[in-house]
Amino acid sequence: MRTSNYTVDPSRLEGVALEPLFAAVGAEAAKQDIPAFAIGGYVRDRLIGRPCKDIDFVVEGDGIAFAREVSKRSGAGHVNVFKNFGTAMFMYGDMQVEFVGARKESYSRNSRKPEVEPGTIKDDQERRDFTMNALAISLNKGSMGALVDPFGGLLHLDQGLIRTPLDPDITFGDDPLRMLRAVRFATQLGFTIDPTTFEAIQRNAKRLEIISAERIHAELNKILLTPKPSVGFILLRDTGLLHEFFPEFVELSGAEEKHGMGHKDNFYHTLQVLDNVCEKSDDLWLRWGAVLHDIAKPKTKRFEPGHGWTFHGHEDRGARMVPGIFRRLKLPLDEQMKFVQKLVALHLRPIALTKEEVTDSAVRRLLFDAGDDIDALMILCRADITSKNEKKKDRYLRNYEVVIQKLKEVEEKDRVRNFQPPITGEDVMHAFAIPPCKLIGDIKTVIKEAILDGLIHNDRDEAWALMLETGRKLGSIPAPGMERPIPHKT
Ligand code: ATP
Ligand code: MG
Repeated sequence: MRTSNYTVDPSRLEGVALEPLFAAVGAEAAKQDIPAFAIGGYVRDRLIGRPCKDIDFVVEGDGIAFAREVSKRSGAGHVNVFKNFGTAMFMYGDMQVEFVGARKESYSRNSRKPEVEPGTIKDDQERRDFTMNALAISLNKGSMGALVDPFGGLLHLDQGLIRTPLDPDITFGDDPLRMLRAVRFATQLGFTIDPTTFEAIQRNAKRLEIISAERIHAELNKILLTPKPSVGFILLRDTGLLHEFFPEFVELSGAEEKHGMGHKDNFYHTLQVLDNVCEKSDDLWLRWGAVLHDIAKPKTKRFEPGHGWTFHGHEDRGARMVPGIFRRLKLPLDEQMKFVQKLVALHLRPIALTKEEVTDSAVRRLLFDAGDDIDALMILCRADITSKNEKKKDRYLRNYEVVIQKLKEVEEKDRVRNFQPPITGEDVMHAFAIPPCKLIGDIKTVIKEAILDGLIHNDRDEAWALMLETGRKLGSIPAPGMERPIPHKT
């Protein structure tokens, strides 16, 4: 093993007292006389001053037995053992600590599951994804704190370079997920992917087919949760990775021109909207809403002579594409998906409300359709203004201020944001002494529409009167004593 002159105090991490843990690892390594190291993400993050919630240790020996001893020595809690992986894990304060025996691995082409045999620290470092992630700190007598850096990881960390420790075709061939990790780290850390490594990703992008959708979306979500995800999406497209799991997004690329009329490049427009949303919200699903808001533009694009490019209906078509995309990426199909779908479907509606003569009824309908997601929708709509013309941009933003004000006024008056019908199905059944039937739904719809159109207030007395009137019109006679609303059941 070659150690560098560069030494680090491995336990000096802001806010966390890790000295006893490192002392315990060092003491146990000395007692068993086997080399032990802190390795990987923890070392990288320590060197660049990035917060980190997990530490990995590698020992040249039995990692599980070693973990048990360290846990005892350091007073940590229960040790979780993953026999299949040869790893053991325990919590130390709020740090997740993991131990593994140094490994040598060989891969077959069709799987991420390697053949594993015991190895040295060098073997273990070789099988890691990037030089900066292969850095280890020695916890052994005589070299305590020395950085073990066989691939120049420290230099690359300084240069902000992402490079594989071995020939990148080997590293990526062994585990294609690493290509996505390269893009994710580049986005999170603001690093550059070294050209040789980048070209290897382009060559190997198709190999992503053996990676599960869960792994892919986990990396994609990490990219989406960075402050400027556009960086990652551009890398994903330029490496060819995006084509493998999200071709609809690639299709947004390009600006066509006909008879001197062009349209904007919807790939870059979408990314600008996404970055804008990220300045206002950390919500992953709102960010997904930005990613997908114009996803159907390529499918709905038309050139109308004399008029120019149109994308009629892209909001509805896009909303219908959301489930398929979520299913393929194995993203959650319940509320989160419905929320994203709603944002896509409604993203043009607030624009319609910027007109002078807009009616309260239109405002009420938007509040009704968006419900509690109205604030998220307004963030998306404001982010959707990507005009380079500052004057136009200011005007549009001011228009939205007016819309937000109108939404507020109408909501205060009519409370339709979380619409609860003032008349229930049971009320209708009582009032007309009828069993469950279609009439009940029909009457409730008439009442809801009347409230949204502003014909009556969102009020039980007015709704009750309309119920009686509608029932009569449809041929039903109110039961005796039902002329006035019966009190709500409590
Ligand atoms: P983060 O915790 O921010 O996701 P990390 O680098 O710590 O980043 P982990 O998934 O926690 O990532 O992995 C810890 C270490 O394990 C990495 O630093 C790297 O050395 C190694 N590693 C993880 N995944 C892979 C992989 N797919 N191929 C090779 N090495 C990997
Ligand atoms: Mg980690």
